[in-house]
Formats: sequence, structure tokens, C-alpha cells
Amino acid sequence: MKTMNVGTWRKAIPALAVALLSVGVINAQTVITPSKNNYTPAEDVELGRQAAAEVEKQLPMLRDDAVTSFVAAIGRRLVVVIPSEFRHAEFRYSFQVVNVREINAFALPGGPMYVNRGMIERARTEGEVAGVMAHELSHVVLRHGTAQATKATKYELGTLAGAVIGAIIGGRVGGAVAEGTQFGLGTAFLRFSREFEREADLLGAQIMAHAGYDPREMANMFETIEEEGGNGMPQWLSDHPDPGGRSEAIMGEAQLLQVQNPRRDTRGFDQMQARLNGMAPAPTTEEATRGGAGGSTSGPPDDRPAPGPPASVAAPSSRSTTYTEGDLFRVSVPSNWDELPGTNSITFAPEGAYGTAGGQSVFTHGVQIGIARADTPNLRTATDEFIASLARGNPNLSRPSRYGGTSIGGRKGLHTALSNVSDATGGEERIEVFTILLRDGSLFYVIGVAPRERASQYQKTFRQVIKSIQLMD
Ligand SMILES: [Zn+2]
Repeated sequence: MKTMNVGTWRKAIPALAVALLSVGVINAQTVITPSKNNYTPAEDVELGRQAAAEVEKQLPMLRDDAVTSFVAAIGRRLVVVIPSEFRHAEFRYSFQVVNVREINAFALPGGPMYVNRGMIERARTEGEVAGVMAHELSHVVLRHGTAQATKATKYELGTLAGAVIGAIIGGRVGGAVAEGTQFGLGTAFLRFSREFEREADLLGAQIMAHAGYDPREMANMFETIEEEGGNGMPQWLSDHPDPGGRSEAIMGEAQLLQVQNPRRDTRGFDQMQARLNGMAPAPTTEEATRGGAGGSTSGPPDDRPAPGPPASVAAPSSRSTTYTEGDLFRVSVPSNWDELPGTNSITFAPEGAYGTAGGQSVFTHGVQIGIARADTPNLRTATDEFIASLARGNPNLSRPSRYGGTSIGGRKGLHTALSNVSDATGGEERIEVFTILLRDGSLFYVIGVAPRERASQYQKTFRQVIKSIQLMD
């Protein structure tokens, strides 16, 4: 359901102004020597190509030109300053954004790189995104994946590709870690040794400085990732273990480097984050890949929030929380619904069920309670007009065929059920509208929204919400 109040509820991430200081004198940077590798660079490319095809089938790629080009531009800025001794003519670098929530990124042998939307959303600066990308890029140019496989044993290329895919997809879905050699082998590509981590930190810092980014921003982002861990270790850190004194080592290397032509324009990054904030929240990887739903190779067009499977929204809690809204009314809603204030309305919706699309608020589960102007003292006519105004923003909204009675705060009102096509998911949804007239003649309304397949479950909740309303007008 798209509603009339405009507002982005998801908290904007404060963009910290970071002074890009050029520190110290140059040319003392740490020298990195590539490790032994039994594979050819062409084999890296083939391996990465096979794994990338599978990754893009399994994980939802964000199909948004503005965001993807911005990330790709950071990537190209880094690629052009790869030190000549680490360049491989066969490698083809590509950059994609995965529309999932976790703070993570990974790169495949030979060049394909994937940055989670959650990573970009949590970064405070473009430099922080560049830091993670420079680190990933360093693993690719140093050919750490195949170097680690070399240390293990010599495997056939086909086996390796399967293993890489297993590690990316299998190991990340539902937290179920597949046992057995295939997974163990796959981890060889994505779970790097501490020595390789140290190398990627140092080369990443060098590449950043040459590309105009302060290497210290890489350390800042790693700290954010660590803080995000909560109870478990974030995936990124388990794949890229701290080699010990990570921040200090990056800061130390930064002292040896001079940032070339520091990038100071932060507008592009701010605009991109605002764009992401305007989309429906990204699902978790588990939600995105559950039941093979992740394969959005033909994803949503620009500016349309990615579909989130209904299963990703928690059912209404049986406990309720009471809210007092000004001196107008009091209402109790399930405790797991967030309160989202608008201009003339307030929406209560569970996490993952609200966002904005095309500058308008959208919610897929929950209720909106508000006041609309009524040009008539006739409740029936006022309700018809109100629904017509809703239909202007929701072209697929059905019209009421009949009204039933309801009671809100002891006053007689009207109730009707409508169908709509959700702007957020493209799925059919059921809309319940309850209205009464207030003493000042305005229309007090409650809109309940739920996907069609969960309509009966939510119907009960809407009834309880309606029953709880106490009017104070
Ligand atoms: Zn790493």
C-alpha cells in the first residue's frame, strides 16, 4: 500500500566528514611478494567465471544503475592503480551490488567482485567502501584463492568452481554449514590465512592511497564491521580473519603513504546512500535465497524496491504496546511493530514491511491510522472520497463493493475490504479500511495492509487494534 505521507523512516547514516590528510614521506611502503601458485592466471579467470555465473543466479543482484555505476567507478579507480608487478592481462574486473542486508563483500578469482548493499549502507564515507573493495581487490591480484588451493593440493578446475560456489551459497544460507571436503575446499578461496589477510590489508592500503583514498578509512570500516557482529562473528570477519593488530598495521602503512589527488567530493556518495534509503529494506541473505527465491536475474526495474518474500516479515506479536498519539487517541498494536510517524497519520508496521518508493511511503504489513479532511457530513460519501484519493497513488486498488459496520471508540463507523497490488513486492495484498467521523467533521481512518496469503491472520490483528482505540477528540 502506498500512502500519501512522504517520509523516509530508515535512519540516514550520518556522513562523517573525513579529512584526507597526506601524512609523512613516501617510498617506504611495505614490499609484498606473491606466493607460490600452481594455477595459471587464465585458470583463475575460468574459475571466477564459473563461480560468478552461479553467484548471480543464486543471490539477488541490485539492478539499479545509479548505485551499481557508483560502486563500479570506485572499483575502476582502484583497478587503474594496481601496481604493475601485480597486473594480469587476463583478469577482467567487474563490480556488482548484492541486494542483501549483511555487511559483507567478496571477490572471485580473476576479477568479479560483489559488495553487499548492507556494506554500502553502513559505510560512513566513500573511502570506507573503497577500503573494503581495495582489500578484496588485493586478494584477487595477489591470486590468494588459487595460492591457498595450491597449498592444499592440486585440484581440477571444475572441482574448485563447485567448491567456491558451495562456500558462497551453501555456507551462507541459513547458517547451515555443509560438512565435507567440498565446503572445506571452498573455504580455501574465501577464508584466507592470516598471512594473506596481512598482505591484502597492506596492498589494499597502497592501492587506496594511489587512488586518492585515505587508507585509514579501511581500518575504520573494519571496526564498523566488528561492531556490527552482535552475537556472532560477521561473515566478512570470518572470511577475513584479523591477522593481529590489524588497525595498527593499516595505520602504520598509511604513515608511509602519500594520498595522491585526494578525493574530497562526497556528494555522489551521499546521493547514493539516500537512494538506497529510499528503497525497501534489503532482505537478509537467508531470506533472499530461501526456496531459491534469490534468483532475480530479471530483477525489479529502477526505483522499485526489491521484492521481499512475505516470510521475511515476522508475524504480529501476541503482546501489545499502547501508544498515546497527542491528545487525539490511544491505540494498542503488536509489540513487534515500529511506530512510524507521518504528517497527518501514523503507521505501525513490523521490521522489513515498510520503506519508500518513488518518494512515497509504502508498507506491506501493518496499520496506518490518520485523519483526512471530509467535505461532507455523510460518512459513506466521505469514505468513498477517501478511498478514491488512496486509489490515485495505488492504480490497482479495487473499489468497495459494499460496506459493513464497525465501531471505533464507541462510535459507529464503516468497514470495507479491498484488494491491491503492492508497489513494494508486486504481490496481491488485502487492504481493510475502517472509518468514522470525528467531532470536528474530519474523517478518522485506519488502513490495515497484509499480503493476500496472510490476510486472515492479519484480519484478527486489525480487529484487535480497532477494538483498542480510545478517542479523546
Ligand atoms: Zn581478506
